[in-house]
Formats: sequence, structure tokens, C-alpha cells
Amino acid sequence: MYKIIDGKAIAQSIRAEIREKVVTFKAETGCEIGLAVVLVGENPASQIYVRNKIKACEEVGIKSYAYYLSAAATQRELEDLLLSLAKDDEINGILVQLPLPTHLSDKALKLIPDCKDVDGFSEGNIGRLCLNLPATVACTPYGVMKILEYEHIEIKEKNAVVVGRSNIVGKPMAMLLMNADATVTVCHSKTKNLKEQCLKADILVSAIGKPKFITSDMIKEGAVVIDVGINRDENGRLCGDVDFESVKEKCSYITPVPGGVGPMTITMLMYNTYLAALRSRN
Ligand code: NDP
Repeated sequence: MYKIIDGKAIAQSIRAEIREKVVTFKAETGCEIGLAVVLVGENPASQIYVRNKIKACEEVGIKSYAYYLSAAATQRELEDLLLSLAKDDEINGILVQLPLPTHLSDKALKLIPDCKDVDGFSEGNIGRLCLNLPATVACTPYGVMKILEYEHIEIKEKNAVVVGRSNIVGKPMAMLLMNADATVTVCHSKTKNLKEQCLKADILVSAIGKPKFITSDMIKEGAVVIDVGINRDENGRLCGDVDFESVKEKCSYITPVPGGVGPMTITMLMYNTYLAALRSRN
């Protein structure tokens, strides 16, 4: 019998905890917690993500500062903004909504100091994660770890397979699972025997961005299946990387799309911002 993990409920419960922590922080320090959200251009998907992040800030009591730069903004304008936010004491976290317009370079992100990098994308934070030192962890893989924790899913000594090796999901996911004492295999588009690798997984995390790519013949009986993918199926409906209907019968736990990992990502952004404020006080 499988369990469908309710990511929305877990996210709501964590948001309630964050709200309480933020209240305590404000009472003890007399300070607000501030998150700067920078959007360059008018990408409709990015506009929705930014709106959702601002809404989440309101929900947990974090003060959001939105900066909208035009699609024609120069590298210099973006960098000047990031430099000023880096120095601003009211700003605890800085988030630049990606992707940037193609004429701008991601190098600007290096101007975000590690202590305000609430996305966990900086070289410093990724380096510390690899060294298993305290680090700000990328929100999506951090959210997956929280899901596993909430469901009391044992990680230690398990075989974990991560499909996808992006810098923002696959790689930090693999590191977190390794740091939690799983034996980790990372697969990607050049992996020859993907099915064989997946069949070894006690915990399978898919983050590839291919609709219903992971099928039931790739799943070991009783596996925990975490689907990070957000895709559209042939009918335009949201779906994950996992062929949910067939795979669920084989596993012990499975996350749906939507309503699985998705709601956790912004929640962990809120948590990272709270932690950044806490660290800046200490
Ligand atoms: P990227 O496109 O950056 O990375 C995709 C990874 O999947 C790459 O490592 C690629 O391999 C691998 N891959 C692609 N095709 C295959 C294949 N056929 N077999 C094995 N591996 C393959 O994507 P992201 O990591 O940014 O995102 C992955 C998915 O997760 C997307 O659907 C995205 O929308 C979703 N997502 C969801 C979030 C959430 O909040 N739930 C947050 C972030 C992302 P290679 O490196 O060899 O190219």
C-alpha cells in the first residue's frame, strides 16, 4: 500500500512554524526581517513566481522589497542594485528571479554575499554543503529533505538515486542525501543504464523536466519516489517526471505533481530568509 505525500499540508505546517519564529525574532530584536526580490524583464512565469514569493512573505511576516528592472536594464544597473542591497542592513536575503534576460550575465549573482544568498546558489554555500558544514541550502532539495523528515523516512544506509545533476536541484540533492548517510547515485542524460540504476533505489528523486519519463518498470517494489519535475503532459495538464498512476502501485511513498515538492520550495525560501536574519543578529 502506498502513501501519497501531501506536500501542501507539510508546507503549511512549516509556514506556521516560521510565522511563530518570525514573531519571536521581531519581539526579541525590535527588527523586521527583510527579503529583496529582484525581477528583470517581463517573463510571465517569473512574474508569477515573484508574486507568490511576495505573498509567502506576507503570510509569514517577512517584509518584502520588490525591485523591478526593465527588460532593457544593463549589467551595470543590475550590479549596482545588488551592491546596494548587499550593504543594506534592512535586507537579510536577496533573491534574483532567474532566468535573467539573455543579454545579462549570471556573474552579477556573485555580488550577493553568502550570508544573504537565501537561494543557496553561491559558490560559498555550495562549497560548505559539499564539506558538510553549515550552509544555506538550495530551497527545492532542502524541501525534499524536510518532506522525508516529516514522513519519518529513514535515509541512513539507504540507496538513493537522484536523476538530474543541475546545480540548483540534482547536485545539492545528492549532497544532502550523502550527508544524511545514504549511498547516492547521480544519473543524467549521458547515463547508459538508467533503468538499472533506478531499480536499485530505495529513495528515487527525479529532477529532469521530462513528463512521465520515470515508468513503473524502473521502480523497485516499496521505493520512496520524490518527483521534483514540473511539466505539461500532452493535454497541457501539469505533471511530474514520474508516471504517477502506474508508479504509485509499486512504491511505499510518492509525491504528486502538483501538491508534492512544489509547495515546499517557497516555504524553504522563507525559512532560509529567517535563518539569514537570525545569523546576522548572532
Ligand atoms: P535542468 O534542465 O537544469 O536539469 C535537468 C537535468 O536532468 C540535467 O542534469 C539533465 O542531464 C537531466 N536529464 C535530462 N534528460 C534526461 C534523461 N533523458 N535521462 C536522464 N537525465 C536527464 O533542470 P532543473 O534541475 O532546473 O529542473 C528539473 C525539473 O524540476 C524541471 O521540471 C523543473 O521545472 C523542476 N523544478 C521544480 C522545482 C519545484 O519547486 N518543484 C524547482 C526547480 C525545478 P544533463 O546534465 O546531462 O543535461
